[in-house]
Amino acid sequence: MWQPLPALRSSGKTSEVRNVIILIPDGCSQSMVTLARWTRGGPLAVDQIQAGAVRTHSASSLVTDSAAAGTALATGVKTANRMLGMAPPLDAALRPVDLPFAPYHPLATVLEGAKRSGRAAGLVVTVVVWDATPAAFAAHTVSRKSDVEILEQMLHQDLDVVFGGGRQLFLPAAAGGTRTDGRNLLDLLQTNRVQIVSNAKEMEHVASGKVWGIFAPASLSAEIDRSALTPDQPSLAQMTAKAISLLKQNPRGFFLMVEGSQVDKADHVNDPARAVREFLAFDDAVGVALQFAAGEGRGQTLVIACPDHDTGGMSLGQRTKTPQTVTDLTAPLAGMQVSVDVLAAKIGANRSAANIIANIEAWWNIRLTDAEAAEITNRVANGLALEPALAETVSRQHTAIGWTSFDHTGVDVPLWSYGPGRPVGLIDNTDVAFATARALHLDLPALTRTLYVDAQKAFPHAKLDTTNPALPALVIDTARLPVNQNLLILNGKEHRLGGVVVHIEKTGHTYLPQEAVDLLAATR
Ligand SMILES: [Zn+2]
Repeated sequence: MWQPLPALRSSGKTSEVRNVIILIPDGCSQSMVTLARWTRGGPLAVDQIQAGAVRTHSASSLVTDSAAAGTALATGVKTANRMLGMAPPLDAALRPVDLPFAPYHPLATVLEGAKRSGRAAGLVVTVVVWDATPAAFAAHTVSRKSDVEILEQMLHQDLDVVFGGGRQLFLPAAAGGTRTDGRNLLDLLQTNRVQIVSNAKEMEHVASGKVWGIFAPASLSAEIDRSALTPDQPSLAQMTAKAISLLKQNPRGFFLMVEGSQVDKADHVNDPARAVREFLAFDDAVGVALQFAAGEGRGQTLVIACPDHDTGGMSLGQRTKTPQTVTDLTAPLAGMQVSVDVLAAKIGANRSAANIIANIEAWWNIRLTDAEAAEITNRVANGLALEPALAETVSRQHTAIGWTSFDHTGVDVPLWSYGPGRPVGLIDNTDVAFATARALHLDLPALTRTLYVDAQKAFPHAKLDTTNPALPALVIDTARLPVNQNLLILNGKEHRLGGVVVHIEKTGHTYLPQEAVDLLAATR
């Protein structure tokens, strides 16, 4: 997918910027880029736009999680791990000192700003669409685990393109889903004239309008398994190309976030072959974005890419092996035909050393010794899951790839950027939001004040009605505002708001758009 670009513009007037594309390979570092380049055997799309490095720590930890990292990239504020789109608590270890918002105050995102400025907005991922990274751009919850609330907010953000997985949570049990409230969210979207597609072919047929592509019950397949397991699922590059072709139809421009979501998943279990394939698929998506930014969108499109953090602490070379030739590095990985998840499924319940040896030879083209197989069975017996036990042991004994963790790490990550107003040098993850806001002429703090007014301050008699706990609503006199939605129901009339109502159970505060405050004031 790598193609040469015209000379880079390191500066340029941001007054010309209409579009911003942010691309995030979740959970990797520069080591992954080097491995991917040797694996491809040529330059990567990201190579021609390497621009610096990004500091990743969160407000609560030197090592961030995806929720806090996504919040920094989307809002320009470092929050505490696990929190989405809101200010950190006062006791967060590394909390910013000059933050003008109270703890747990929802923070406007660049996506919300883009929508408010009349632009189109899209999110493209390969995991469930409410996963931490996409959620950080379009939802506000104290916990990234609040999946139902996150999806409800995303549904009410008037998004133009959403591609990813997670069909389960859209459907009631009767239709094969996991919802306990009986609602069918795909029907709800269609009622609002949103097209729903569920495979690559249907996606390709969409020529205009709003679309949600939900391509799997949960996550999409790993790239290394996709053609064998689910050939009807689109690649990240295909989803990115379609998203751009739809979003660019908005005359005011667009904001798009693309996540190579599963680099992180592979790194968490130290599965190098799967990880590098995920990164290469991500790089193809970067190539698609750059072809647009350097072609039709030239001079009007800012592209920023960076991992949200590293995962796994990968290195090329480890205690017992220093690779000298390309073959030393890439040959063991080339023999691995499936992800460790598929390998573990092939091994199944029979976790004998003989069965493990046979399957690793069949699917990964590696012959384990009896001692190595015994190491795997011992680690599983001691409580490690089969997948990391397999992948880390094989990695260490039979590849030149080193790993230091099954978790995230705290190192700086590479920064890639292209187009007018592109950030360069060593930046903080919050600078990605600031560069985006500058390019799109958004005032994020002002937007936060406009979108998230403290209801109890504006209307001291405002109450939360939890008669239906699945669908709580803010009640102000005769007006109702369902929580996590963008609706104001007044005298039997529905007003669609330009923002969602957010309730923070932890503080008891509810936040609503200024637009709703004005509407209520006008009708008094
Ligand atoms: Zn992440």
